[in-house]
Amino acid sequence: MPTSNQHIPFLDLRESNAECSGRLIEAAARVIESGRFLGGDETRLFEQELAGFCGSPCCIGVSNGLDAIRLILRAWMQTGRLNSGDEVIVAANTYIASILPIIELRLSPVLAPPSPVDFNLDFSRVEEFITPATRAVMLVHLYGSPCWDAEVCRRLHDRGILLIEDNAQAIGAHASAPGIYGSHLTGALGDAAAISFYPTKNLGALGDGGAVLTHDPELASTIRALANYGADRRYHNIHTGYNNRLDEIQAAFLRVKLPMLDAENARRAQIAATYDRLIRNPFVKRPAILSGSRQVWHQYVIRSPRRDELRNHLEAHGVGTDIHYAVPPHLQPCLKGKFHHPSLRLTEQMADTLLSLPIANINETQAHLISNLINEFN
Ligand SMILES: *Cc1c(COP(=O)(O)O)cnc(C)c1O
Repeated sequence: MPTSNQHIPFLDLRESNAECSGRLIEAAARVIESGRFLGGDETRLFEQELAGFCGSPCCIGVSNGLDAIRLILRAWMQTGRLNSGDEVIVAANTYIASILPIIELRLSPVLAPPSPVDFNLDFSRVEEFITPATRAVMLVHLYGSPCWDAEVCRRLHDRGILLIEDNAQAIGAHASAPGIYGSHLTGALGDAAAISFYPTKNLGALGDGGAVLTHDPELASTIRALANYGADRRYHNIHTGYNNRLDEIQAAFLRVKLPMLDAENARRAQIAATYDRLIRNPFVKRPAILSGSRQVWHQYVIRSPRRDELRNHLEAHGVGTDIHYAVPPHLQPCLKGKFHHPSLRLTEQMADTLLSLPIANINETQAHLISNLINEFN
């Protein structure tokens, strides 16, 4: 029986930044010495570099991922493409931050079931949830797996339904089929995309940060104004906007880390492949490796009907795990009782069986050890 006296935390953000800590300190010093803390060269250059990386022509650095989603929806309202009461379809098992801006803007979220194969929106069922009030579909690339079906999305697009990507978890992922503008990269598949640089994300800042990506320059300029009090130039407010800017210091940190992202995503894919090769237990279902697409493994999520026992077993051997997400949005106290569709049962059942294994900071040896611990669980 393999025993471990080592401790493997689920995630260690010090470790995540260790490789580039010297360059992060240099970047901070550069910003401090520049005296420019908002709206300077770091943000401008980061926006260009990120647009290039994501294959999307327009990029706006913003305060965080939730605000990025809110800015996109609000900009569409500002330009008449969305109106209050319009329905936005979104997978019911997403993180609640996808849904909060929909509610805040008095749009109406419609919670559609996830596919039990890849945890993303079930494209075989999404059209059942369309009504005359449907104006947008939010594609959440959950756990780093691309959420895309070229045929269904083309039909939605042709009906004038807006496609917004919540790309908080999947920067650098590729869908198996091209998006509406021809790119396969998540963040460039639909009409507009939100990215989060929350410190735990694959590209994490050292604080909050986010970005909006779009192919639509008009949407981009509306968002740029909305994020800066609604001003299109100094002291000229065309919208009742917000303050949702990205800090120069976070942009400088992200410019250090963006060139390392492909290697980070590849390393995660290697750990995921090891788990996939080694984990063999009748009580455990491994996540699907999607053929033709590139997943970036923000999380490696297994399922087990005996999830809590398995979690305790790993914990007892020093292995930290997490659950994404233990309580689905529609059962949170702020939303409880507001959603009733019978298909929500599927999301609830999934939430009771999910378990996220360490993937961010572990090496091959540790992936072997964790796999062995899972295999001996009975
Ligand atoms: C992290 C996350 C967000 C929110 O991003 P913040 O930067 O924390 O505001 C939204 N949606 C999903 C799917 C996320 O994982």
